[in-house]
Amino acid sequence: MSRADWAIFLDRDGTIIEETGYISDPAKVKLLGNVASSIAHLNRLGVPVVVVSNQAGVARGLFTVEDIEAVNERLRQLLAAQDASLDAVYYCVHHPDYDVECDCRKPRPGLLLRAAEELDIDLSRSFMVGDKLTDLQAGKAAGTSTVFVRTGFGSGELEKDGDEVLGFADKVCENSTQAIEWILKQRCGDERTR
Ligand SMILES: [Zn+2]
Repeated sequence: MSRADWAIFLDRDGTIIEETGYISDPAKVKLLGNVASSIAHLNRLGVPVVVVSNQAGVARGLFTVEDIEAVNERLRQLLAAQDASLDAVYYCVHHPDYDVECDCRKPRPGLLLRAAEELDIDLSRSFMVGDKLTDLQAGKAAGTSTVFVRTGFGSGELEKDGDEVLGFADKVCENSTQAIEWILKQRCGDERTR
């Protein structure tokens, strides 16, 4: 990657895969809609795709880091079957009620900041996509633009905290495929040769 690249950060559960609540069984991983072909499109354009995910099930003792890795591996397999890949996956295993107050659990920006550092991403030109208010808050705290999706918890969050969601969202989309299309339009003409 060249310096100051921008990236698309995607939440995992409810944004890329079906929200099933504390998923730990790789067999239950189901891609949402056409997200694989949208990610494949980003891969072809050379836009880094980075997953940032809260996995407090570890802190709660519901599953292990190995379970998270197995689910992520299954996600990568399903994407690969459609020629799509993720540039990186970052997750937080903490929960303040069960272990520690960390910097990486969304709405905190730690995962995005770490990715930006390690992958040399310009956060101010990047986008965070998610189905929860906390995704948007993490994005804004890290300095990205934000897109809210109605999949997963999205519709429910809009009903419950609509004003706050709209306050943090630069755009609301039906799903991550629409979100990616919208983002590419914002960046249209801004693509640089890599
Ligand atoms: Zn954390």
